[in-house]
Amino acid sequence: MACQYLLDRQDAFPARTHLALRRVRETLRTWREGEIGGEAIPHGSRGPVALLFPNTYAVGMANIGVHWVWRAVNDFAEDGEHPFACERFFLDHLPALSVESERSLSDFPLILVSCAFELDYWNIARALLAAGIPLRARDRAREGGPVVVIGGLCTSVNRLPLLEFADAFAIGDGERALPLILHAWLRAGGEREPFLDHIEGRAGLEVPPRFTEAERARLIPDVARPEPSCVSESDCSTQILSPHAEFPGRALIEISRGCPYRCQFCYVGHRMRPYRNRSLDQIWRAVERWRPHTDLFGFVSSAVASHHQIDDLCRRCLDEGLKVSFSSLRAEDLTPLMVETLVASDQRTLTLAPEVASPRLRPLIHKEIDDETLETVIGECVRRGIENIKLYYMFGLPGESDDDAMAIVSQAERLRSLMTDLQRSSGRLGELSLNIGIFVPKAGTPLAGHALWDPGGIRKRRQRLLRAVRQIPNTRAAISGLEEAQLQCLVSMGGFETGDLLESLALDARSWKRHLRDAFPAWRERYNAERTAPPPVFKLPGGKRRVRLTVE
Ligand code: SF4
Repeated sequence: MACQYLLDRQDAFPARTHLALRRVRETLRTWREGEIGGEAIPHGSRGPVALLFPNTYAVGMANIGVHWVWRAVNDFAEDGEHPFACERFFLDHLPALSVESERSLSDFPLILVSCAFELDYWNIARALLAAGIPLRARDRAREGGPVVVIGGLCTSVNRLPLLEFADAFAIGDGERALPLILHAWLRAGGEREPFLDHIEGRAGLEVPPRFTEAERARLIPDVARPEPSCVSESDCSTQILSPHAEFPGRALIEISRGCPYRCQFCYVGHRMRPYRNRSLDQIWRAVERWRPHTDLFGFVSSAVASHHQIDDLCRRCLDEGLKVSFSSLRAEDLTPLMVETLVASDQRTLTLAPEVASPRLRPLIHKEIDDETLETVIGECVRRGIENIKLYYMFGLPGESDDDAMAIVSQAERLRSLMTDLQRSSGRLGELSLNIGIFVPKAGTPLAGHALWDPGGIRKRRQRLLRAVRQIPNTRAAISGLEEAQLQCLVSMGGFETGDLLESLALDARSWKRHLRDAFPAWRERYNAERTAPPPVFKLPGGKRRVRLTVE
């Protein structure tokens, strides 16, 4: 019988019609039929483990963390046996059904969540509630519901909003945590409490205590400091090639992990340390594995050009005629051979993230890409035939003046005219697109102590920027909205109370902006007050499970 908790919430996720269910099953079948490398393990032949990626199939299948977990669960062996079968869930449809056997999330006693983006936190809530699974761990424990272990980069940064939803967190690299989880699940015979007892205190795993209301109020965002794993042992590359992924038919290969830079706003540079390269041999083994199926390859890293053998890799790709893309590039590190590889791969767009255009702000964010470097790199790429340029900026930084923000417009105007001059003779004018985000403080970064600007200030500056960039010919500009920034701020910096908001958003997704408008001012006031008055020393009451949460 459904518990009252779920009965109260069932209106948010009405039952699917027969026709809708048929369409969902057709989509799942289309995905399966298009996949290369997915193995069909009959449901029930091994212990079922759900892998939930709280975003769409296209995004999830372009996330190599999802591929790695799926493969690692299926390949996990003990006493010569493979005890687990992993089935993937995405949020294209709710309630989600598994890609592999079209079963519901509630049919799986163990759910592993791989959360790559903070804005997907509420999607975790949506997926669980839509499947009829109690959102909070204490309710699942009472109702005998599945065990939910949440991992992924952003949970290493601020997991307080999810604290009540998770039975456990996997912090840091999956290479450390996943084998421990699977061993413990076997040892515990699939029982919740023995399982949690087994993993408690193990490196890379965290079992949240059940806090009282008074304790909840005193928790502040804290950042885990996970032990880094050695990436040379693991194969972090595409395991299933799909034509329906965000990069259709492209095999993705992680070439390094972490980032050698320390941009002040970015938690990758500060929390995913140290920077670890994979060797060329290891990367090439992954290339050779997919070579019979595709010549499209994507090399993934937070800073691809920083890889110590990047030119050797490019040379080899050029020799083999591979069509290559790079996930993320720093303008100042781009080498001529990388540009040659992009051109030979028919890449028509180069994406860079200067973040700011004002020389005054560059040292503040520790990302000092000067005008000359940017213009030289873009000029060279356009000259070589890359038609379109996409640039990422942000505004709303601490101490930013009107002139600082408007420097983005002047820089874009200069780049636009540079592109036009270079492309005029070919008769093909490429597109300059600007993606301007709002600065959102992130826990665990040096700029975490700065507040999100007040709504009036953001709106005013956003309007001014929008008006100005619209005047630049052949330039497309998108400037992120205030509500998106507020939601991101809440999940990046928010505490326990954010979990309640995430639940409201999940239950009424269409009115998320209204919920946010109601909740944000109070949260902001409290947050600002706490920033000026440090929270009192918080000690975990004796007897509770050990946890590395706030100990200030
Ligand atoms: S913004 Fe990019 S280059 Fe800077 S630290 Fe983050 S991942 Fe590294």
